[in-house]
Amino acid sequence: MYKFAPMIDRSTTIKIQEAAQIVDVVSDFVTLKKSGANYKGLCPFHDDRTPSFMVSPAKNYCKCFACGKGGSPVGFIMEHEQLSYPDALRYLAKKYGIQIEERELTAEERAAQSERESMFILNEWALRWFQRQMHETPDGRAIGLSYFRERGFRDDIIQKFQLGFCPKGRDVMSQSAMKEGYKEQYLVGTGLSIKREDGSVVDRFWGRVIFPVHTVSGKIVAFGGRILQNNAKAAKYVNSPESEIYHKSDHLYGIYFAKQAIIQKDFCIMVEGYLDVISLHQAGIKNVVASSGTS
Ligand code: ZN
Repeated sequence: MYKFAPMIDRSTTIKIQEAAQIVDVVSDFVTLKKSGANYKGLCPFHDDRTPSFMVSPAKNYCKCFACGKGGSPVGFIMEHEQLSYPDALRYLAKKYGIQIEERELTAEERAAQSERESMFILNEWALRWFQRQMHETPDGRAIGLSYFRERGFRDDIIQKFQLGFCPKGRDVMSQSAMKEGYKEQYLVGTGLSIKREDGSVVDRFWGRVIFPVHTVSGKIVAFGGRILQNNAKAAKYVNSPESEIYHKSDHLYGIYFAKQAIIQKDFCIMVEGYLDVISLHQAGIKNVVASSGTS
């Protein structure tokens, strides 16, 4: 997904592969029982009734005899956590306390990477800010939180999907961000703010409730905002524009919360919008996503 994902050098990769023990890695997700020289458990990749998932410590390998999925520790983590190869290595490095030596990047790669990282950091800040506005300000509670509660959303679901609220004052968010040292360049770059012709910067989502859009691994790439008053002139939904980190066609709303259920059930339900995803999730149907950027 990233053009310049930082590389992990070869010796670190080998160190991680040697440290990662398949029984230990799989046990974080599957209850295993000893079976001869191997271990057995219920397959996490299909709806398994009889333990079909075999784990071999000698071969440092796992495999399901029903659906065929499995692999090395890295392969298992890629499949189970829906991670790329380098991200699966990072996951295991963290688990085993191995320091990752990233390959030296070129100046161009570093610039592009730090730009994307700055955008993710800003989105993370905005996520928390929108949540605080909704839960900790009188307007946020009266307008934003009550909107979600009226839709019947439980508090745990509101927290889980990290819903928020952007106040009405046109540039309250942009001003707070800049006061905290976030650069206008990234505010405009992520689409959180819009630069007007007179040079002033306004909030894209002012007066709206906020739906953050997560990547498969849980990073925030975009936001959707829904208007609360009936106003014929304003669009019901406003979404982040395409950016360095956000390409609409690459992202499905809800995928971060749905990935486990999609793997288990082996299918996924496409619905129309943010509210449908959240409603179904609350009803216990979790293998559900929406194409992001729709209303
Ligand atoms: Zn299986």
